[in-house]
Amino acid sequence: MAVPEVKYSQLFINNEFVNSVSGKTFPTINPTTGEKICDIQEGDKADIDLAVKAAKEAFKRGSPWRTMDASKRAEYLLKLADLLQRDVEYLASLETVDNGMIITMSRGSVNRAVGMIRYYAGWADKIHGKTIPLDGKLFCYTRYEPKGVIGAITPWNFPIAVMMRKVATALACGNTIVVKPAEQTPLTALYIASLVKEAGFPAGVFNVVPGYGPTAGASLSEHMNVDMVTFTGSVQVGKLIQQASGRSNLKHVALELGGKSPNVVFADADLDYAVEVSHGALFCHSGQVCCAGTRTYVQEGIYDEFVKKSAERAQKRITGNPYDEKTESGPIIDTDQVSKIMELIESGKNEGAKLQCGGKRIEGKGNFIESTVFSEVTDDMKIAREEIFGPVQQIIKFKTLEEVIDRANDTEFGLAAAVITKDIDKALAIANSVRAGVVWVNTYGVVDHHAPFGGYNMSGVGREGGEESLSEFCEIKTVVIKVPEKNS
Ligand code: ADP
Repeated sequence: MAVPEVKYSQLFINNEFVNSVSGKTFPTINPTTGEKICDIQEGDKADIDLAVKAAKEAFKRGSPWRTMDASKRAEYLLKLADLLQRDVEYLASLETVDNGMIITMSRGSVNRAVGMIRYYAGWADKIHGKTIPLDGKLFCYTRYEPKGVIGAITPWNFPIAVMMRKVATALACGNTIVVKPAEQTPLTALYIASLVKEAGFPAGVFNVVPGYGPTAGASLSEHMNVDMVTFTGSVQVGKLIQQASGRSNLKHVALELGGKSPNVVFADADLDYAVEVSHGALFCHSGQVCCAGTRTYVQEGIYDEFVKKSAERAQKRITGNPYDEKTESGPIIDTDQVSKIMELIESGKNEGAKLQCGGKRIEGKGNFIESTVFSEVTDDMKIAREEIFGPVQQIIKFKTLEEVIDRANDTEFGLAAAVITKDIDKALAIANSVRAGVVWVNTYGVVDHHAPFGGYNMSGVGREGGEESLSEFCEIKTVVIKVPEKNS
């Protein structure tokens, strides 16, 4: 498949593609080759101001978007889903050139986005409150109202899927939105903007301002006219966004942050199946996944055999050109991330973990790292505590169920966990006791928009997906009416 032609590189504000106020640009780089794809207009505070103004105008009382029937909002969303589906090959190819994601996964991401939009379109006219029996001669009901202008700050690892989960929910609820995509991967957000326009959404409902975090991102999080920020990214930036809310208008903040997720393999598991699931749990998308299974806890009876088979599997993993349908792992997003991963690999070696395979940067063009497996990892090592966001598996030994629960919970994170066992009692013990937003049993990484997803502890605040995320994007209003004595 050829590298696609880039059609849009400007900001999208009020249904128009425009240059940034400063006229500055920044390059977006192809991580497979290290070469520049194109220059993108760089938004900062002035552009965020314009985008928020457009979004606020589109949200104002009496505007087409505010007066539209909820079922009509659903029609716009369904049209948008059809357009994404029409352009699945182009969008997937754009995602792969900008992010390095293997093409099969990029296609999957677009199809998932289509499913998400349709799912939330289905909710648009089913978001409603309750009637509540109060004491006395009173009639009480609740209304779910859109929050207003939503700021969405998105990461580079799943640009389309993460952005569309936020956009579909926000728009289904009747909000307007300003998206600040990650500076590493702005291309698909801009192309989707053209589809929003083609779908016929009123001007200002959906806006995209590419730019850097400390400028464009910070302006959005501090903005007095933004009513909520929904963010996916690092813990460090999540904290900055909450602080920005506190310094400005106390906007609602929803955060989906990092993880160091335990994947517990009991000795009764089918060994080959457990090795394969655990391998996928970590090496999927070169480990650049917030819910990756980065702490592989394996029970002592099968530990040595599990390590041997995991290293063999990792050595067979095909890393390379993400456009090749046979490739299993593409490049790492950028050179900064490569340096961070290499430092953590060095720390693993220095702290006494045993390098079973990999551990080196792959020579040549692009940002490639060998699939790396460490055994003899202990809980105190840096590689067992810090998020690596790279293709580095840590295999840790445990003895008993009670012990592994405590060790799994000994982390500042709490995004995901998994257990692989044939024993239902052990599976339930892990599912009930591990403090994580999702627990997978005999599988890994199922993040489906029908169900809520989010973190305990420092892995986040709030939930995305499912019915639960509707209340994140709505205000709940209580209306109380005095009922005249004679009518009661
Ligand atoms: P990662 O470590 O995955 O690159 P980051 O948390 O650094 O994740 O970035 C995720 C998103 O947050 C990106 O869109 C980035 O531009 C944005 N961002 C970075 N710094 C800030 C900031 N100070 N305020 C708001 N957004 C930011």
